[in-house]
Amino acid sequence: MSSAIERLNEKLATIIDLNAATAVLGWDQHTYMPAGGIEARARQLTTLSSLAHEYFTAPEIGNLLTEAENAPGLDPAGEDAALLRKVRREYDQSVKLPAAFVQEHSEASSLCFDAWTRCKPADDFETFRPHLEKMVELTRREAEYLGYAEQPYDALLNKYEPGMPTRQVASLFAEVRDGLVPFCQKLFAKADQVKDDFFFTHWDHDRQWALTLQVLEDMGYDFKRGRQDISPHPFTTDFGIPDVRVTTRIHTDQFKAGLYGTIHEGGHALYEQNVDKRFDRTFLAGGTSLGIHESQSRLWENLIGRSRDFCNYYWPVVKALFPKNMAGVSREDYYRAINRVEPSLIRIEADEVTYSLHIFLRFELEMELISGTLKVKDLPAAWDERMEKYLGIRPDRVSKGCLQDMHWTDGSFGYFPTYALGNLYGVSILDTIRTKHPELLTGVADGSFLPLKEWLTDQVYRHGSRYTAGELIQRITGRGLEAGPFVSYIKTKYSAIYDL
Ligand code: ZN
Repeated sequence: MSSAIERLNEKLATIIDLNAATAVLGWDQHTYMPAGGIEARARQLTTLSSLAHEYFTAPEIGNLLTEAENAPGLDPAGEDAALLRKVRREYDQSVKLPAAFVQEHSEASSLCFDAWTRCKPADDFETFRPHLEKMVELTRREAEYLGYAEQPYDALLNKYEPGMPTRQVASLFAEVRDGLVPFCQKLFAKADQVKDDFFFTHWDHDRQWALTLQVLEDMGYDFKRGRQDISPHPFTTDFGIPDVRVTTRIHTDQFKAGLYGTIHEGGHALYEQNVDKRFDRTFLAGGTSLGIHESQSRLWENLIGRSRDFCNYYWPVVKALFPKNMAGVSREDYYRAINRVEPSLIRIEADEVTYSLHIFLRFELEMELISGTLKVKDLPAAWDERMEKYLGIRPDRVSKGCLQDMHWTDGSFGYFPTYALGNLYGVSILDTIRTKHPELLTGVADGSFLPLKEWLTDQVYRHGSRYTAGELIQRITGRGLEAGPFVSYIKTKYSAIYDL
């Protein structure tokens, strides 16, 4: 008779197939589905996800899990134990929430999202307010159901960055914030030194598309096991290791969004495509945490993609594809324009330097909302005040302030921090490469990224969810996560660009 873990894996494989089918429908919805398909698609997605939920929360899964955890000879440091820990965490998260609560949460989320789509364009916070109050209240209850060690926010963070306590995130972020805010003021004072107007002329759609495909190919993205399409918001999705897809957006009135959207998603996709094939159709396939995932997209997008060597390599390529746009633009102009820094109100338009500040603001406000020290009615004022403190600018309407993101409409409190954690993980990994394997970076100047991709595969990608984020970063860097490397990376790079 097969072992408990084998029987468990067999059951889980069915759920993984259902989730993959759900992902195919989701991919289609955001790429090719005609608008008329939306209601039918919503029903199909609900059917598949409730089936997956039903299978996963069945007592049989719980019993097999317990049996496998107690099987004699299980090596606590081995792959099986890592798999069981991951299944246990997700299983507990699913069964700890009562069905009535899940139903109430799902209905309130739909209403809140719907209100957001109407209130944001109308700059109407008052109509949105009761919906957000409901989501905050539900999220507090969710934290109680899930349980936490020190504070309710731990339970929320644990959904996206397992094992990382709020305390640690708060102290890392405070260190980066205190380093970046005064540095940004110096940069903003010299904003005029870097011009990027030429990026906001007419840029041919098809040539931009061709460039994004070439860059993906150069990065080592495998088109036999993936494809790129267009969607309003770029994303990466996968239906197992053999089929990992990316999307991008192309704007003809500007250059950077398309190329850097592709590089970002390409970084996510390299991770998913290069997980050890043995983990396919198991809970160990897929990146280990959102923060580590984001570290890979941002490593390619910013640390490599906005580096001098990368820009030097692609400058003649871009010049050849877009001779009119690039007339009179020198290599140096191009590199500096790619790295222009400016205070912006909108997170998704923020540059490499200011992006994390947008996250710190949200993280701090989320913690206050969840702990109750900030009331939803006072959110717009608290947002604007902090925006002024960190970036020196103030939104004149809520659509450019606290109503800009959709994350809170479905109660995704605890998600935002993973974006900034990605920046910190990414630079810690880059620092290790620079000190121990500088040869991996020398190829970037010739467009040869494969040695870097191979090293990342060995150190990060192939392990899937085998290690937690904390274990992985310790294995790679020999240390826990630190804020210092990110702050000094930013200061060194941008002091040079802005001649500080
Ligand atoms: Zn991302």
